[in-house]
Amino acid sequence: MVAGASVSDSRVEWFRAGDEVDSFVIRTNRFDLVVDTMSTPEMFARVVALAPLRPYLQTVVVTTHADYDHYWGNSYLAPSNHLWIASEHARARIVEQQAELDQMNLATGGRFHSVVLGTPHVGISTATVLDGGDLQIHLLPTPGHTPDHLAVHIPELGVVLAGDAAERPLPELWDARSLPALRASLQLLRDLDATIVIPSHGGTTDPEILTDNLEILNEIERRVESGQSLEDLAGHPLPQKQPFFLHCLHRAVAAIQEEN
Ligand SMILES: [Zn+2]
Repeated sequence: MVAGASVSDSRVEWFRAGDEVDSFVIRTNRFDLVVDTMSTPEMFARVVALAPLRPYLQTVVVTTHADYDHYWGNSYLAPSNHLWIASEHARARIVEQQAELDQMNLATGGRFHSVVLGTPHVGISTATVLDGGDLQIHLLPTPGHTPDHLAVHIPELGVVLAGDAAERPLPELWDARSLPALRASLQLLRDLDATIVIPSHGGTTDPEILTDNLEILNEIERRVESGQSLEDLAGHPLPQKQPFFLHCLHRAVAAIQEEN
């Protein structure tokens, strides 16, 4: 189910597919900006039904990173006039994903049957500003969860769309060497002093998520280095989140051991 959530400024429209993933439509004077298109074209069609794209303006699509749940809905837009922006690194990931798509489609009884992998029109490698006239949209390379990750900052609104760079209780690391990058990304986002920080999973707007994520990484490091137990680190994640949390914790521990 895809449903709307709310941000104080009506130019930012926020859509949640339960706990699976979120997507955003941001209205500027000069273009409609879509941030992520969920897991399937059918899911993104539901977003567009709730938030019709304005036909007289350009649609700009930003993919935060090339994990399936953030962009496999893009093929909904393939026949229409739009400009798709991702990081240059995401472009490289996407061209190698057909096998993953085929395998996931098989494993889910055809859930992804209508997904067609395209490639982004623009690949960026550095921080980039999209000038919407009334709103400036800053695309910020924020690797760590994945190497291709972009977060979105809208300074006029004090809003950060953190993608998967932030997630409670702990973001997932790409690999054992990604910890310094994730820390730097969380720090960069925290230094923006945004009042609304929305990760792609979790449904929160609380900017403290950035500090909390940095602190839990520090706490894991302290415990690993002093040989202490890692139990009950994250308070009490919901039972259904526990397996994913343990997976993220194992990645973080491996990364800390790699650093030492
Ligand atoms: Zn995700």
